[in-house]
Amino acid sequence: MGKKKVKPNAFSVFMREVLERESRNGRKYPKEEWASVAKPLYDKLSASEKERYKQMAKQLPSRVVHQAPKFTSQGIPLEQVEREQRALEEKKRFMERSIKTQCENAFLDNVIKKKEFFFIMGNYFYKTMSAPFLYAPAEIAVSKFTFEDGITQKYQTAINPGTVAMGYAFEAQERSQKIHRLPTPPDALGEKNYENVYKSILDVLGVQIGETFDLNDNRRPSVYIRKQDMEMMESILDQLSENQWQNTFNLFELELLFHELKNKVTDVRVPISVTNSFIEQDKYDALANISCDHHEKEDATRHCALSCVQRWFYLFADHICEKIDVRLVPGTHLPINARLTPVQGFEDDLFNQPQTSNRDDDHRSVMSSSYTGYSRHTDSDSSSDDY
Ligand SMILES: [Zn+2]
Repeated sequence: MGKKKVKPNAFSVFMREVLERESRNGRKYPKEEWASVAKPLYDKLSASEKERYKQMAKQLPSRVVHQAPKFTSQGIPLEQVEREQRALEEKKRFMERSIKTQCENAFLDNVIKKKEFFFIMGNYFYKTMSAPFLYAPAEIAVSKFTFEDGITQKYQTAINPGTVAMGYAFEAQERSQKIHRLPTPPDALGEKNYENVYKSILDVLGVQIGETFDLNDNRRPSVYIRKQDMEMMESILDQLSENQWQNTFNLFELELLFHELKNKVTDVRVPISVTNSFIEQDKYDALANISCDHHEKEDATRHCALSCVQRWFYLFADHICEKIDVRLVPGTHLPINARLTPVQGFEDDLFNQPQTSNRDDDHRSVMSSSYTGYSRHTDSDSSSDDY
């Protein structure tokens, strides 16, 4: 490694100060422990104190060192950052491979109609500001479905985390008012016992508490959630299961599953931007009677976790069922009270998709598959014996 000029950063200035103080008090630490001694103290500094160290660092000259800097400006060892990055990439590759294999096998073995899938969703009161980011759980819901039988099991509960951590009361109130409308602690509704919640989730997945499966064990369930909610759900599950859930099931991106399934039933490859746009469109978000009682009463059905894990199934069913010879039954595969979109309206919607591909082939393939589905929905309204 060559020589390199390194500018001190706020953390390195602070760390030096801590080590000097410790040394004056007769405590010396090996180099590899320096950061872990200073980091907890640094995290406790207020924003203005950190700013003061930043300004001090600016005043100091660059040092010539013989190797690259070992810490980020937040005091995290670079080696750790790189290790975490590699682990994330490996996790993503594993997820992509698993989803592809599971879908391929389900079609090859002709069990796609009966294959069990799981969706999960939650709400939270607030998220802590420094890593590891903790999301205080407010609600959770999980559903099990097959394309043939629809949603066969579901579980939902509001969660009461007991207290709001110091400094987060405002965020908790604001999220409640603007988003999920669940009362904040100490007035929170629902289950206080995290183990009970976790047991109920495992019950839907068909596994026992304490049961573990290797990553390659095909009994290991895969549970799907939107990419944007993945970090939240990992944090909530960590708390509910005391960090055990990763030994039992996978948490995968719903967008990748939808894309894989859609392409299995469509002749021309559909780009993920198109399948994602169907998910973003979330056309069942205002649907009544699929939320928990609290959200139904509060008129906040769109953000209800139970609504999400049911309406995502309706979206999947819209696109997949008829292609695998499953007849769409209102009340099972589509909401019993759904107002069906007229064919013309659906076409308009499709061409107004925010992120459709430029390739005409892709447009045609998506439209033709769903177009057929929708016109049949409409027909079934007027003459139910058409199938
Ligand atoms: Zn709800």
